[in-house]
Amino acid sequence: MHYFKNITIVDKTKYIFVTGGVTSSLGKGIIAASLGKLLQARGFRVTNQKLDPYINVDPGTLNPYEHGECYVTVDGHEADLDLGHYERFLNVETHKANNVTTGRIYQNVINKERRGDFLGKTVQIIPHITDEIKRNIKSLGSKGEYDFVITEIGGTVGDIESLPYIESVRQLRWELGKNCLIVHLTYVPYLAAAKELKTKPTQHSVKALQEQGVQPDILVLRTEHNISMEMRKKVALFCNVEPHAVMQSIDVPSIYRVPLNMMAEKLDEVVLAKMGFDSATTPVADMEKWTAFVEKLENAKDEVRIALVGKYVQLPDSYKSIIESLIHASAYNNRKLKLDLILSDKLNDENIEKRLGKVDGILIAPGFGTRGMEGKFSALRFARERNIPCLGICMGMQTMSIEFARNVLGFKDANSTEIDPTTPNNIVDIMDEQKNVLDLGGSMRLGAFECSLTPGSKAAAIYGETTIRERHRHRYEFNNAYKEQFEAAGMTCSGVNEESHLVEIIELNSHKWYIGVQFHPEYRSTVVNPHPLFISFIQAAIQ
Ligand code: GLN
Repeated sequence: MHYFKNITIVDKTKYIFVTGGVTSSLGKGIIAASLGKLLQARGFRVTNQKLDPYINVDPGTLNPYEHGECYVTVDGHEADLDLGHYERFLNVETHKANNVTTGRIYQNVINKERRGDFLGKTVQIIPHITDEIKRNIKSLGSKGEYDFVITEIGGTVGDIESLPYIESVRQLRWELGKNCLIVHLTYVPYLAAAKELKTKPTQHSVKALQEQGVQPDILVLRTEHNISMEMRKKVALFCNVEPHAVMQSIDVPSIYRVPLNMMAEKLDEVVLAKMGFDSATTPVADMEKWTAFVEKLENAKDEVRIALVGKYVQLPDSYKSIIESLIHASAYNNRKLKLDLILSDKLNDENIEKRLGKVDGILIAPGFGTRGMEGKFSALRFARERNIPCLGICMGMQTMSIEFARNVLGFKDANSTEIDPTTPNNIVDIMDEQKNVLDLGGSMRLGAFECSLTPGSKAAAIYGETTIRERHRHRYEFNNAYKEQFEAAGMTCSGVNEESHLVEIIELNSHKWYIGVQFHPEYRSTVVNPHPLFISFIQAAIQ
């Protein structure tokens, strides 16, 4: 596989593993994505993968409070939110194969056992589960599409749940030799009373990894204070790692700084050297566009104030991709995002002015079920009547249609069949076309679908295209029986799926910026390509 003409020849896919120790939430996903970005910026083809140690077959059924947002790939996989970081950092689409859970590994092995594939053998964690894990890791590299596969192992070293993954890494290290490398992320706590950074937890977590037969090549120490050379040498000595392979990842105000900091720590350089690349002939990383974005983000002085109205706001990770999309679009417009997270359950027509009176724009979030619906109607009516820019996403668009039917078309009992199955005015319903699909066992409309935009509409102007592809995750749809009445009253259905006739975008003609989308544009916004809908929404908000 010749990637760089006359410069670098990557003949075999290289596998890099990112493990974590001491505690969870250290930002393994960000370190893995940053390393991916730096290698990609040198011209290599990179993909990031996440192995999750939980038993759920995929994160689709997890409550957002448990695990944050469910990210959706183009091929309709409901995935861990780390895949969102990978796409935002690398600007490359991920797929089902980029996220594997223990549940799926076991399901595959048990299916094979039922089919008789193991020919009467006793099915065991080693080798059957570990073989399945290795197959899932190597399948990403097997088609020759990538020079580097970076696999993040979820959980913390020492957990019972991650043992089979670490064992698989041990085996792969042995099989792949120099084409395999292990980066271990740990935490160096600062004891305020002693005014000291402590490396003992790092030493212990490396020991735990070594006990499982895995020697890390590179240690990344997450810290709140700079770690001295002396301390790095001490860690190196205790952990069998070279001093220049002990790096720090210091706390930063924005995750988008991390790749630049890791470049300064020479993470990519050390990785390449350890994997046998010649530094004299390996291209340097081109981080120009990335740096320009980070500078815009950090230098923006004027604020744009956006209210995100949803039912899971106590855990902002539930809206990870939406928040990141707003950050991208604000930075693009040289604004600093001031985000008000508003719990929709607490909103009503009486307190709405107090809660939303000062914001520049309102975003009505996706969601499932009845809780918090009525508050969304209050927020929507306020945005509609006060000409405040408003973006409704998925259930946000559905509530937009119901509010319009109730308060403009005069259908007092308008609702969604998801909320009230007996409603006579089911503005939001499961469409007949969908019913057939759903009856066949699919439970949601998932993944990327095409949408045609009405020429002359706001949506068409924003996208600058007539056909777009956006990702979906929902069961209910705008009920086409009401389309004519909506359009006659000034709510245009400006985006439609030609094949199914499903309405994907609605927009209020007489309003400054009032757009609802049935899909999730947030899954497609990246650092180098902020999403046009978010850019336009922020532009309207600052006008
Ligand atoms: N509850 C809605 C549906 O299933 C919307 C889902 C969502 O917002 N992702 O159609």
